[in-house]
Amino acid sequence: MTFEEIKSLDEQYVMHSYSRFPVAVDRGKGAVLWDMDGREYIDFTSGIGVTSLGHGDEGWLKAVTGQAAKLGHISNLFYTEPYARAARALCQGAGMSNAMFANSGAEANEAMIKLARKWSFDKYGKGRGTVITLHNSFHGRTITTLAATGQDKFHDYFFPFTEGFRYADANDMDSLEAVAGHDVCAVMLELVQGEGGVLPLDQDFVRKTADLCAKRDWLLLIDEVQTGVGRTGTLFAFQQYGLAPDVVSFAKGIAGGLPFGGVMANERCRDVFAPGTHGTTFGGNPIAAAAACHVLERMDEAFLAQVREKGDYLRAQVEELSLPCLGATRGLGLMIGVEVKAGWTNRELAARLIENGLLVLTAGPGLRFLPPLTITREEMDRGLAILKETLR
Ligand SMILES: *Cc1c(COP(=O)(O)O)cnc(C)c1O
Repeated sequence: MTFEEIKSLDEQYVMHSYSRFPVAVDRGKGAVLWDMDGREYIDFTSGIGVTSLGHGDEGWLKAVTGQAAKLGHISNLFYTEPYARAARALCQGAGMSNAMFANSGAEANEAMIKLARKWSFDKYGKGRGTVITLHNSFHGRTITTLAATGQDKFHDYFFPFTEGFRYADANDMDSLEAVAGHDVCAVMLELVQGEGGVLPLDQDFVRKTADLCAKRDWLLLIDEVQTGVGRTGTLFAFQQYGLAPDVVSFAKGIAGGLPFGGVMANERCRDVFAPGTHGTTFGGNPIAAAAACHVLERMDEAFLAQVREKGDYLRAQVEELSLPCLGATRGLGLMIGVEVKAGWTNRELAARLIENGLLVLTAGPGLRFLPPLTITREEMDRGLAILKETLR
């Protein structure tokens, strides 16, 4: 099909909940993509932080096709090896106790919220189900995770939203204390707010929040859907914040491109979900779990050190270009935000870059780069050259 044919089918048959950029992506290799006309693009998006090993990775392909040939699906009523192995790899890498799988970030966060509320119910009974989240956060698109998301623009149309969420300002302990109360069971944080604009939380604020959680017997819930699985240069971002969270959610990059996600709990939360209390038909699907095992196997210390190096390099190079429409960079590892200035909008700049062969994302008012973690120096340089030519 041509791009125009695809676009016209999309216009007629697809619900328009997205305003798409005018490119139909056909195939990819590494951090390079090709559209229907064979035009090349450098990928600074990895499908919103998903294709962590790049496109068409040989090891990933072997893990996925090998498992697909053996067993594609069976349900959670039976044991499978990929499920058990993926859970072990995650828990050992993160220092957590046990895990449960889902299919997306929103579902992972739903499970995390359910786990926190049940933990509190089991210990304290009713009336202690409130979760504090931060302004400018993003936790997903279900009715409950929209309610958990601390941005007013997500609290329209779909009334009634799930109750039991209060919002505090990031990096402001007074604001957090102001929404504390006897009905609270947990605080839920992204350590680098992703959709909100790639805003890393202050170490000091995070440490004090963890102390407050310990003092009030609240659970500390970390949403690592975007920051997790190597994206920030450690397996999980909480490891750079020196935290011991109670529950951690993950999704996006975990299976290198297949829908997968889940939660991990520490020792005191390991038995909250007893049989019958939470479940999913697809969650932990053997093909996605086999892909996750492969992704996790690849993320050894040398791989993670390279993510940190690449992140430093890319940020330094973007700053060095000192383009008039771009300001300071921020982020952690290969999760990079770039300020947009000089009267431009991030959407305008993204459209121009994409037109010129560099796929980028927006986040908050800025640009966001989430390249595959396997991106090479040469691929980064090609992306930077497009950035320079397009925006100078
Ligand atoms: C993307 C994202 C989600 C939602 O994940 P989906 O897979 O789109 O449901 C939740 N939390 C954070 C931090 C995210 O970046």
